Amino acid sequence: MRPEGEALRPAEIPLFRRKLMQWYRNHARKLPWRGVTDPYRTWVSEIMLQQTRVAAVIEHYNDFLRKFPTIVALSLAPEAEVLAAWSGLGYYRRARMLHKAAQFIVQELGGALPTDSVGLRTLPGIGEYTCAAIASIAFGESVAVVDGNVERVLLRVTGRPQVATAAGRAFVQEQAAVLVPKKKMEEGVNAAGDHNQAMMELGATICLPKNPLCLECPVYGLCVTRGEHLTTPRTAQRSLPVAFLLHLRKSGALTEVLLHRRANEESLMPGMLELPPLSQDAVTAREPLLRLRHSITNTNYYVQIYAIRSAKDKPLLEAVPVREEALEWVKTNRLAEYPLTGLTRKALQRLDVMEMRKVRLEGLDQPNAAIPSAVEETDVVGFDSF
Ligand code: SF4
Repeated sequence: MRPEGEALRPAEIPLFRRKLMQWYRNHARKLPWRGVTDPYRTWVSEIMLQQTRVAAVIEHYNDFLRKFPTIVALSLAPEAEVLAAWSGLGYYRRARMLHKAAQFIVQELGGALPTDSVGLRTLPGIGEYTCAAIASIAFGESVAVVDGNVERVLLRVTGRPQVATAAGRAFVQEQAAVLVPKKKMEEGVNAAGDHNQAMMELGATICLPKNPLCLECPVYGLCVTRGEHLTTPRTAQRSLPVAFLLHLRKSGALTEVLLHRRANEESLMPGMLELPPLSQDAVTAREPLLRLRHSITNTNYYVQIYAIRSAKDKPLLEAVPVREEALEWVKTNRLAEYPLTGLTRKALQRLDVMEMRKVRLEGLDQPNAAIPSAVEETDVVGFDSF
């Protein structure tokens, strides 16, 4: 076996690829964006998968494509409609960038996605990771995709310590590049794209951040650490209590809910609708209608929803610290058409104010299911997912 810290030897590369692909063919999860031939669909899936769990993406992917089946359809849609379809996925800047990129492609590129990583990199919202993923998966380009899962696999296989330096990143990038098959896409066989997806799948389902399943690992024989590599310590989570108001009223046979439209100048979720916020002082000694936890990046939000149910609850309305013009009544049967924040959507569904989509998530609610940790330079990093 190689000493720890050394790159895979040239003679080990074909064996690594072969073992990996044998395993992938038999164990890859069936995901709706796997095996698609339309590059637009691959692009949408890659943007949705940034910083978002696979199970959450599955919930939205098919609906989004039903609403916007082509780049042209997406480019012609009003931004509010695109944000509404994105509601619940978080990081709404991704949806805005996707929409802008679709408009750019239609207006400037004749409606077709660029077919290589260099061209893709010029589009809004597409950074190094995403352009490599689309170029290899949709167009068969022999370019390495390095997300957090791939990095972890390569560091463990080689026994390299994780160092956030340019040299550390270059080592991982070089090792990933050496491993990608150099064959062009031929007769529907996409060696590079399949290899990249297999590497990510291995990190997402076997070489888990905590407790890797080494005995099930196809590259066990080539790995120098086998579960003994120092796993990346997780960033400490912080907790934050937040409170919101639920105010419903009748409008003929229908029901309306009061929502707050966030200002366009807000750095987080501008223009999106949420339940009106309440200060913690206003809710002391009151019992919430609903409690839920909403986690975004490193923050656990402990959310309390308070309802106006009788005259004694009316002071809550006066305690909403936003301008009256920013409040609006929305019919509950039209909520799905509005760009709601993820938290508001979740709360309204739990409270049966908004209908919940029925989606089957067969075997995909594993906690570590493909959480890409690559953060694009073009992404906002933070809690843009309320
Ligand atoms: S043997 Fe274990 S540590 Fe090594 S790559 Fe496989 S799962 Fe990861």
